Amino acid sequence: MPYSKLVKPDSKVMLKEINPSKTDGLDKAAAEEKLVKLGEKLRELQELHFAAGENPLLLVLQGCDTSGKDGTIRNIMKFMNPQSTRVASFKVPTPIEAAHDFLWRTHQQTPGKGETVIFNRSHYEDVLIVRVHDLVEKDVWQKRYETINEFEESLVESGTIVLKFYLYISKDEQEKRLLARQQDPRKAWKLNVGDWKERELWKDYIEAYEDALGKCSTKKAPWHIVPANEKWFRDLAVVETIHDALKPYEESWRAKLEAIGAKALADIAAYEKGR
Ligand code: AMP
Ligand code: MG
Repeated sequence: MPYSKLVKPDSKVMLKEINPSKTDGLDKAAAEEKLVKLGEKLRELQELHFAAGENPLLLVLQGCDTSGKDGTIRNIMKFMNPQSTRVASFKVPTPIEAAHDFLWRTHQQTPGKGETVIFNRSHYEDVLIVRVHDLVEKDVWQKRYETINEFEESLVESGTIVLKFYLYISKDEQEKRLLARQQDPRKAWKLNVGDWKERELWKDYIEAYEDALGKCSTKKAPWHIVPANEKWFRDLAVVETIHDALKPYEESWRAKLEAIGAKALADIAAYEKGR
């Protein structure tokens, strides 16, 4: 069984049925050992992905404040070539962004062939915070699930590999993390009174997440729920999911590179013959 939970298309997600502290019997040391091994395999696959230049790779990270989006990015980046990878962070829309349709800023950040882009938050904020805070009318955000599915489908049709991760922590774990930040002067810069205010809306966010996960997990652009109370398990789950999604492409990427290599060798041989 994979460490993260794949959300079946058109399903009703009930987050309370999922254990955010799940570790599948692993302890930290065992998980870290597995992470290093799997990470090395991912590094090789991601390098092939880059060199072959056939498919864009889009990794979407969502989760509440303190769910570990930044830490996950730092840890998965260790296994990725910085030349082919970048992070796009989505904040409160700027006036220019807000003057456009909600996917405008998203589409500008999607990866090109061979490129990997990690979304730190994403267009899903437009059915999460926007819904929870009534930033637009209900009939506006309600239509967005379908719009998002069509948008992601069009990315997949042009070769993009789309993987979406919801980092799921419990409400208690969030409290622990917020208090830890308050007690550690080195982490206080991450604090924001807004985090405590958002926390009061926990239930609304869970509902909004359940809808987004259920309505927008498609066969082509699936959502994965990552048990994220234990950071070491979270990282292992994300790396495993990316690795498993890239693996089926390995053969065709290698074949493409072999063909390019064979052509280069033939060109050189012809050049040497003619000298
Ligand atoms: P952070 O991830 O802590 O840097 O915070 C970014 C903030 O921007 C979060 O509170 C997000 O919910 C918020 N945000 C991102 N996208 C949108 C959006 N489309 N509309 C409103 N707020 C957003
Ligand atoms: Mg924040």
